[in-house]
Amino acid sequence: MNIQTGIEPILREIEAREGEIVALTQDLIRFPTINPPGEAYRPCAEFFGARLARRGMKVEYVRAEGAPGDSDKYPRINVIARYEGSRPGPCVHFNGHLDVVQTGAGWTVDPFGGLVRDGKVYGRGACDMKGGIAAAVVAVEALIDSGIELPGAIEISGTVDEESGGYGGVAYLAERGWFSKPRVDHVIIPEPLNVDRVCIGHRGVWWAEIETMGRQAHGSMPFLGDSAIRHMSAVLEKFEHQLYPALAARRSDMPVVPAGARQSTMNINSIHGGEGEDFEGLPSPCVADSCRIVIDRRFLIEEDLAAVQEEMKALLDQLAGERSGFRYEMRDLFSVQPSMADRDGPVATATAKAVRRILGREAEIVCSPGTYDQKHVDRIGRLKECIAYGPGVLDLAHQPDEWVGIKDMVDSAKVMAVATLDLLARG
Ligand SMILES: [Zn+2]
Repeated sequence: MNIQTGIEPILREIEAREGEIVALTQDLIRFPTINPPGEAYRPCAEFFGARLARRGMKVEYVRAEGAPGDSDKYPRINVIARYEGSRPGPCVHFNGHLDVVQTGAGWTVDPFGGLVRDGKVYGRGACDMKGGIAAAVVAVEALIDSGIELPGAIEISGTVDEESGGYGGVAYLAERGWFSKPRVDHVIIPEPLNVDRVCIGHRGVWWAEIETMGRQAHGSMPFLGDSAIRHMSAVLEKFEHQLYPALAARRSDMPVVPAGARQSTMNINSIHGGEGEDFEGLPSPCVADSCRIVIDRRFLIEEDLAAVQEEMKALLDQLAGERSGFRYEMRDLFSVQPSMADRDGPVATATAKAVRRILGREAEIVCSPGTYDQKHVDRIGRLKECIAYGPGVLDLAHQPDEWVGIKDMVDSAKVMAVATLDLLARG
């Protein structure tokens, strides 16, 4: 059988394995891989590796020693499985994160039970992204079982810590060559971006704390002090009248969804000034000597992190020139570079073509409003050929009663199989 004539039987086979996709999703959900702290990482990785080893894949475990959160109690265990084809060719790699976020309140079903109801599998991680991982595994198993002489190689990895930045997961592996040529040519991450969307990247992130400084005095004579809160209100005023309009005017080639995120944005995550709140009884009258905000600035592929930081510094320096006594400090907390694959590149076009074939409609090419592990493949692995494509519904990620649709998993497994064959056949 060759690659062209072999597709239809594989698609029928994936359809016949719907029950397997559901069972694997349930099995994965039942490992409560909550991050932080990184619960059940080892048993989940070992379960995943054992499954793929049964298909003759070469399975390796990589513990991210020394990564944030790694300890003997909570080891950061990653698993990578590789299937070698019968002749040289490209390598298609499916990467999924096995960690999930905390459950939170509001569940009406057991978050780690894997309940199946009305064509959906429920549980923490069903949508983000154990359902997507199960679809990828069954797609790859069907390819291997088909008997088609596959060129190149197929890899699947289950990695950790994506929800906390990916440093013990994809970043750690990328630093050691696991996500670079010549080992890997194309990466598909089955994150929940909806079954008919091909996600080619994400915006960048910059978190910082800004503090304004004042001088304490008695609250009945505020003119004897200098209020850090009033200085911060001047900062917020500048944001409203200067920064937000400037960010809103910035246009991007990135097709970010939802449309409101198709520009630079900034959230103020928190604000604290003056006396703390950690006391009983009445507060005392003081002029605030400190006020702090934490900002979450999301930036575009057209922007540069240094310029984003410089823009903020210029705004604050401008205030220092305008307001007497204005003093501030700005501290970087965290940053992520934006990433965007070529929408006309092989992995994006092969996946979009497969969506058209399986779903009978055009794939929407999108970028994610938030970040995911693509940044590490791109910036550390230096591999631009990376997209996200998976069955989960984006809006359900991290919510109570998270679910993944069974038909969407089957359809996306077919899309992944067709795209893989296409990429391997391109040589
Ligand atoms: Zn995710």
